[in-house]
Amino acid sequence: MLGVTIRRDAPINLHWFKAYFQGFEEVQAVRDIFGDRTEEVLAGLQVEFFSSRFGFMGVSEEDGHIMVSTHYLKSGEEREIYLDIIHELVHVRQFHEGKEFFPEDIPYPDRQTEIEAYAVAVKEARRIGMGEEEILQYLEVPWMDEKDHARLVANLGMDVPGGSS
Ligand SMILES: [Zn+2]
Repeated sequence: MLGVTIRRDAPINLHWFKAYFQGFEEVQAVRDIFGDRTEEVLAGLQVEFFSSRFGFMGVSEEDGHIMVSTHYLKSGEEREIYLDIIHELVHVRQFHEGKEFFPEDIPYPDRQTEIEAYAVAVKEARRIGMGEEEILQYLEVPWMDEKDHARLVANLGMDVPGGSS
């Protein structure tokens, strides 16, 4: 016996997405994700903030709420945060569609759910004026090594950096 009591049912503190992320319902890329349901989905969407210095954003597999690192929110580049939100909103729609977005047996850069989310973010990155080099840098994330990065970039139909073609 450990002699301690551990309550295992800790609450998750959720906040309204729109209290922190405003105007996204006006963004065409977001309207393209949710169509007629844009206002309704964003008005009902909740966000959980976590304080770890590691991690950026994600979507809960339990109920589809967005999870955001307060450290990243404070210190990240605004354009990248904006693009990440759009990426996560694609996952929110996938969640509503009942798609499994973390199929463990498929490598991250090959997951259709990720390719779709990154494709929407890359398209929006171009629209806001980011160059291809900047976009490739944006896609360099700590959880993908060089090989995974190149694979994702290829899956997105972008030129592989340093490629011979
Ligand atoms: Zn994703």
